[in-house]
Amino acid sequence: MSKENFKFQAEVGKILNIVANSLYSEKEIFIREYISNASDACDKLRYEALQNTKIGHSKEFKIIVSFSKKNKTISISDNGIGMGKDELINSLGTIAKSGTEDFIKKLEANKEKNIDQIGKFGVGFYSGFMVAKEISVSSKKAGKNSSWKWTSDGKGGFNIEESVEHNLGTKVKLNLKDEASEFLESIRLSNVIKKYSDHINHSVCLLDEDDESSKEEKINQSIALWTKNKSEIKKEEYENFYTQSGLNYDKPWKVFHNKNEGTINFTNLIFIPSEKPFDLLHADKKVNLKLYVKKVFITENCENLIPKYLRFLTGVIDSEDISLNISREMLQNDPVLSKIKNNIVKKILSELEKVLKNNKNEYIKFWENFGAVLKEGIHEDFTNKENILKLSMFNSSNQKEWTTLSEYLERMPKDQKEIYYISGENKDSLMKSPQMENFIKNNIEVLFFTDPIDEFWLPNLDNFNNIKFKSITKGDIDLKKSSTKKDEKKTSNKDLEKLIAYLKSFYGDKVKDVRVSSRLTDSPVCFVADDSSMDIHLENILKKHKHLNEISAKILEINPEHALIKHLNKIDTNDKKNLSKAKTISNLLLDQAKLLEGIPLDDSKMFCNKLNELILENLN
Ligand code: ADP
Repeated sequence: MSKENFKFQAEVGKILNIVANSLYSEKEIFIREYISNASDACDKLRYEALQNTKIGHSKEFKIIVSFSKKNKTISISDNGIGMGKDELINSLGTIAKSGTEDFIKKLEANKEKNIDQIGKFGVGFYSGFMVAKEISVSSKKAGKNSSWKWTSDGKGGFNIEESVEHNLGTKVKLNLKDEASEFLESIRLSNVIKKYSDHINHSVCLLDEDDESSKEEKINQSIALWTKNKSEIKKEEYENFYTQSGLNYDKPWKVFHNKNEGTINFTNLIFIPSEKPFDLLHADKKVNLKLYVKKVFITENCENLIPKYLRFLTGVIDSEDISLNISREMLQNDPVLSKIKNNIVKKILSELEKVLKNNKNEYIKFWENFGAVLKEGIHEDFTNKENILKLSMFNSSNQKEWTTLSEYLERMPKDQKEIYYISGENKDSLMKSPQMENFIKNNIEVLFFTDPIDEFWLPNLDNFNNIKFKSITKGDIDLKKSSTKKDEKKTSNKDLEKLIAYLKSFYGDKVKDVRVSSRLTDSPVCFVADDSSMDIHLENILKKHKHLNEISAKILEINPEHALIKHLNKIDTNDKKNLSKAKTISNLLLDQAKLLEGIPLDDSKMFCNKLNELILENLN
């Protein structure tokens, strides 16, 4: 039978190049990856056979790791679901993960080939090329007659041909590089298998191919960890299970292991990672939670088991209240599942609340990784939005550390009636916003909303404990009420009436209004939005992502105490020469307000020319 040649998808080629040349010390993880794939394949076949009685399987699912010192090979065989020709081509020649391209770019930019980063990505099948000069995969798909063999040296492409091996399932054979011969020692192999596979549901056995008299030796305990009693489980066992089941590379930040009994019976063994997965913020990031029914695997990535805003959770849910024969389609509408989901959400939120109360520093670690994702729940989860807001942390103008809203309210002066916030990119740039000037001067605390999601949940929940949120870049703000400092004599608004009238007519519809500001101390001008309009920052985000064609006209606030405004106020615009100066200053002021908000200028060249003219005038 002839061989067909295929090229790897470009991304696979790049990943392989990085993997093969990496100086990763933990090369042994390839065994974990292959055993995990083999175990998944057995789980999948067991589930398929429940759905379709025509599909058969062996009495016992088994994974065999065999080795030959003579031939320098290690093989991992399973009697699971197997792969057809197309699946071999697609599964072992392409990467379908979202964000792969971005990730590879980052890796390539990093000259040291930081393998921790590769670890976070999860190289799966391709990890074998760290130790093998050639890998072959022989596979026979359940329900099919033909079997196929995939072969590659990991350099650019692979071959496919019909296989002579006709056992059901998959055999991955690695032809080891000379420097990887440590994996041909039975002790070393058995230790690695034990380390990673004790909690695999199926037997994992070791076999020495060179010794004809040797028998398969079962290495793992194959007890589903979640079925054991909490008191009998050691911390390391949880950690090993976490690493093996979710193919995670960090340690869990928190473990939730509960047997729930009552109207709904289920066990959950759920982990919150201590590190942020690389694809966390991708919209199509899959939920990594496996559903079992009475220890039988049903499905992974079960979308209706947990809401999207808890997509950082990994682990297992096992329930005896779901029928074993349930199809994945029926799972969509299963009422038991939605009850389990509600129960889990409540549990996770209340556990998070406990950590926040008892150990804020520990909670901050969680928040810095997953806060932006959890906050999506304020937007999406009508029932729990208040609870999630209670768990939310913000940076603030007066605090070095993260603060909760309850803490903000405790510090808030009695005469302050609203929770002040400003939205933008980050704390540093927001501290420099002109709208912040008077707040900083009067030591009035403002919260920084720096995640894009903040703009989206605010319309759903405009208060915390009945105290309204107030954007300091929107509407009128009467700082006198909350300010404790007495203001010196100010230029009265009346003095500025003529200037305001002039500016309004000069700007026309480029601004919505011109008015005197109570926010500014140092800057001459700033933009604010109407109370009823969209926040300026949100408009900028929407424009950037092309959801808006134009930025709407803003209100220009002027600082009556600023020398420039005072000067402009004195110019007699009836005089022609003066008028041209007034126009130049007015244009520059409007452009300044735009620049401060990151709004593109209508004519940047003109702005620079005028600025240069003024500088030159000053030099002469
Ligand atoms: P992942 O397991 O994260 O999906 P891998 O690179 O490890 O990524 O494997 C890619 C795919 O190849 C798997 O999703 C699976 O569909 C298929 N596969 C790998 N090993 C086996 C196996 N032993 N039996 C059946 N399918 C397999």
